[in-house]
Amino acid sequence: SVPLSFFGGIGGASKRGILVKGGNYLEALAAAETVVFDKTGTLTKGSFEVTKIHSHSMADDALLDLAAHAESYSDHPIARSVCAKFGKEVDRSRITSDEEISGHGIKAVIDGMEVYAGNKKLMADQKVAVPECDCRGTMVHVAADGGYAGHIVISDKVKETSADAIRSLKENGVKQTVMLTGDAKSTADAVASELGIDTVCAELLPADKVSKVEELLEKKAPKSTLVFVGDGINDAPVLSRADVGIAMGSMGSDAAIEAADIVLMDDDPAKISLAMRIARKTVRIVH
Ligand code: ADP
Ligand code: MG
Repeated sequence: SVPLSFFGGIGGASKRGILVKGGNYLEALAAAETVVFDKTGTLTKGSFEVTKIHSHSMADDALLDLAAHAESYSDHPIARSVCAKFGKEVDRSRITSDEEISGHGIKAVIDGMEVYAGNKKLMADQKVAVPECDCRGTMVHVAADGGYAGHIVISDKVKETSADAIRSLKENGVKQTVMLTGDAKSTADAVASELGIDTVCAELLPADKVSKVEELLEKKAPKSTLVFVGDGINDAPVLSRADVGIAMGSMGSDAAIEAADIVLMDDDPAKISLAMRIARKTVRIVH
């Protein structure tokens, strides 16, 4: 049976926009020593903006046109930003095939050309050489018919409350903060140092995120727990694997909300330490 004061804790949390799916998760949250974050949409706003278009083998407009057509079927925040920059309706009759490659980008056939749009790994898999670039931001490289066509730089911003949220977790007994991302290492390192995150793991595929969390679960102190915070479709397996999975609710995918143990209604990372404080208070009352 569930002790009555767990209901009090769950009720108090829900008034603050923190939906807890069961009293056992409050107990687990009270023992949290490791907090693992997904980057995009969790610590950052997840609303990207194109900051630069750098074409290599065609006009800038033609590069954006090609990338927008390749990205037109994708719901990824990166894809939405490329299409927003394009600003016009895409001509679907020019797209004869379109496929999302998880953690990499897009493979499409546009105007009869084989087009790839995505990260360095995607280009490497296609044996397309990527010129050096010290651009700050997330790069969407574009290849057409096996040749490098150029890149589009997009940037995301950290949420205003993320740095405080990390600090507050440490003040509340969290020993290790970790950030996992599929994004490039340079972008990930910049975000982590801005936020004071202890450990960064970048360029991960969705499946790598699960193994990373499993590794951290093995290393954690006995009786302590690991919390994972994420929002995306790809995060669902990690949300289920963690001792406590927390999903950002308003931007989060249905799969993430379903897999989570706790849902934050307003996507504010500062709510995590608030939830921990509520959890500790509740557990103290119960025991
Ligand atoms: P995360 O949420 O950790 O940033 P994702 O798994 O969603 O990771 O994506 C990982 C990386 O794969 C992105 O940073 C990007 O480089 C690339 N990527 C994924 N989907 C797309 C897409 N539709 N267009 C371009 N790049 C993409
Ligand atoms: Mg994500």
